[in-house]
Formats: sequence, C-alpha cells, structure tokens
Amino acid sequence: MLTAMPTASPPPSSQARPAPRDRGDACPGTLRLHAADDGALARIRIPGGVLTTRQAEALGCAARRLGDGDVHLTSRGNVQLRGLRAGCGAELAEVLDTAGLLPSWDHERVRNVVASPLSGLDGVGRQDVRPWLTALDTVLCANEAATELSGRFLFALDDGRGDVSGLGADVTVRAIEDGGAWLTPGAVRVAAGDAARAALAAAEAFLEAARSHGTKAWRVSELALSDEEMAHLVRRRLAAERIDHQEHPEPTGVTGGPRLGLVGDALSVHVPLGRLTPHQWEALTQVAGIEMRLTPWRGVVVPTPDLTAELAAASLDRLAAAGLVTEPGSAWLRVGACIGRPGCAKAHRDVRADAARTLDAGNSAGPSLYWSGCERRCGRPHGEHIDIIATPGGGYQLSATAPGQNTRTLSVGDPSRIRAALAAITS
Ligand code: SF4
Repeated sequence: MLTAMPTASPPPSSQARPAPRDRGDACPGTLRLHAADDGALARIRIPGGVLTTRQAEALGCAARRLGDGDVHLTSRGNVQLRGLRAGCGAELAEVLDTAGLLPSWDHERVRNVVASPLSGLDGVGRQDVRPWLTALDTVLCANEAATELSGRFLFALDDGRGDVSGLGADVTVRAIEDGGAWLTPGAVRVAAGDAARAALAAAEAFLEAARSHGTKAWRVSELALSDEEMAHLVRRRLAAERIDHQEHPEPTGVTGGPRLGLVGDALSVHVPLGRLTPHQWEALTQVAGIEMRLTPWRGVVVPTPDLTAELAAASLDRLAAAGLVTEPGSAWLRVGACIGRPGCAKAHRDVRADAARTLDAGNSAGPSLYWSGCERRCGRPHGEHIDIIATPGGGYQLSATAPGQNTRTLSVGDPSRIRAALAAITS
C-alpha cells in the first residue's frame, strides 16, 4: 500500500543549518578503523581519486588479504575496505604506507579532496588542476592546524567545467576564464599559482571561526555565520597570508560526472553501486598504464594517452565484460545505495539487493535514486534525487525534493511496490 505523507518543506539537511556539534567526528580512516557488522572498515583518503597503478595493486592486495576482497568507492572518490579481520590495523597501515598512500599519519583523515577527474585529458577544462592537487596535498600535510579539520571537511578543485563545483564542498577552487582561480568561501579571485595556499587559508579561516565560536563544527555549513561573514573571515586570512585576491562573481554552470567510454585521452567507466570485485579491480589495474582516477560519481577514469582507437575499444570491451558500465544510458548511472544489510547494524533492509531488483525490473529511465538502509542516508548525493529509505517495518519511505518545490513523500509497506511508488511520486 502506498501512503502519501503531507510535507511542506525540504528536509532539514537541505535547508537549515544543523545544530552545533559538541564532539569531534568519529569518521573512520586508515588508522582509525570502524567496527561494522561485516568486520572492521577502513576509509582510505585518495586526494583527487588519483592512484598510481602500483598503489592500486597494493589496495587490491590489501582488500583480498585482509578484507572482503572488494574495493568500495565512496561519493568523494575515496576507497573503503570492508570486512577487515580483527587486529589487522598495523598490517594495513604498513601496506598503505609502503605504497605511498599515507604521506602524513597525522593528516590521513583530512586529505579529502575531489578534483575534476578528466582534467588535462579531454581539452574541456580551463586548466589542468593536477598541479593544484599536488600542491594542496603538500601544504595540507605540512600544516599542523589542519589536523583539527574533521574527517568530513571537503576540498574541491574544479578545472572550470563545473563538475566538482556541484558537490557541496566546504572549500572550492575553480579555474576561471582569465586564467585565475575563484575561491569560495570568500567569493574572490586569486592567481592560479596561489590556488592551493588560498584553499588552505580558507580552511584555516573556518577553524578559527569554529574555535572563536566554541563549536566543534565539522563543516562550514554548520557554523552560525552568514555567507558574507564567512567571506569576510576568509578574505582577512588571505590578506594575512599575503595572497592577492579580489572580489569576483561566482562562475556559472554546473555539470555532472564524466561521460562514459573513450573520452579524449581516457577511458571512463561507472561502477555499479561503487563496489569493485577483485576481478574488476584487476581488470582496471591491468588496463591502466600509469594511473587511474576514482571519481566522486563512483566511476573510474583511466588515462590512456598512447592507446590507439582499436586498443581503447578492446580495453573498454574487456572492462564491460568484467561488469563495469562503459556506455551512457545504463540505469546504474542514476542509482546509488549505502552499504545496508548485512554490513551495517542500523540497516533495516539489504538496500543494494532491493536496488538491483528494482533496476532489473526495467526501471531504466527517470530521476536519480539513492537507497538508504536507515534515515541517516550515509553517502547520499548532493543535488536533485529521490531518497528511498528503509523503515523499521521492512518497507520504504520515498522522498523527492526538487529545487523550489515542496518535498513529496510516500510510504511503501511492500518493497515489491517500489516501482509503482516511484511512478506515483514523479508523476
Ligand atoms: S544510511 Fe543507515 S543503514 Fe546505511 S550505512 Fe548509513 S547508518 Fe548504515
């Protein structure tokens, strides 16, 4: 039975500022494992999602030897290893350290950086953000105060195409037409060569604001400050760091994730529900010549500058045969899910199985869907989508919010009626 619920406003998280925190975040990392129902969980920060082939092999090896074998992609282009056996933390840290994935143990949870995955590969962006990425990771790991950032604080480096600008990062730097970089919070232009230092200065301004307000805010949006007040603090910090800056209007235009297939000098694939089996991970590492880039849209971009069109097509065929999505139009592109049962104790259902069942039932067009095992909605995407949230009784609640519109919700007691509910809530 479908039950319409009268609601009149967007969910709190999309509109109001959350209540101030009174504790530090418990976000898992590589050195701080989280005890999940399917074993320990490690979240490994991969700035920009960039992995050398050797690092990718080390991760795959660690997943097989210590965990459930799979490599799980997050909505920030990071990696989670799940099902880790008890007491393996030191061994895991050693493997990752040897592979160069732990450049600063003190900063391992704060290296949350997303970057335009196709930057420098398809000729679309205004500039290659790789130098920004390298510089930001370097200054971040050298900054003692940055260890106070929460594991949820996010930097975004956009090459001007507007892809990662739409991910709601705490600090965004975006390449602009005149060769400079636009920084927010702050709403200022800085020189491209100052982009990394300016991003760090904005993060430091956030930390100062949090300290002076006596709050343990994890994200900029949690500070009780207006955009103008935050911009003022950032500009003051930039001035103190002697970083030239000028007020500048926000660049317009936001796009989504990379196209799939052969895109410029890269292969681009999507990973259904972000879970890569050992076979899929091995196929990717074998196709990747030097590096791969994990995307915040649960995809992988493999730079292939020297590949002929024939070899690129053969590589895509191989990745498709492994179960990765290589062509646009797949229903998987608009479906995401948290881990659900059996991995999470809070989950009311195996949401991944339900998502796959609904997809198999022919639901191949429509809005983006995000399935959650409970009302916490971990990892749900930014932007317009329908939340499908498992409820204690074994059913689901659907919640659709569009910009400028009221939230619409529907309750579904019988999960087999999800398709009908989706049709009803989008009609
Ligand atoms: S949304 Fe709920 S069920 Fe899903 S991972 Fe988060 S806490 Fe677990």
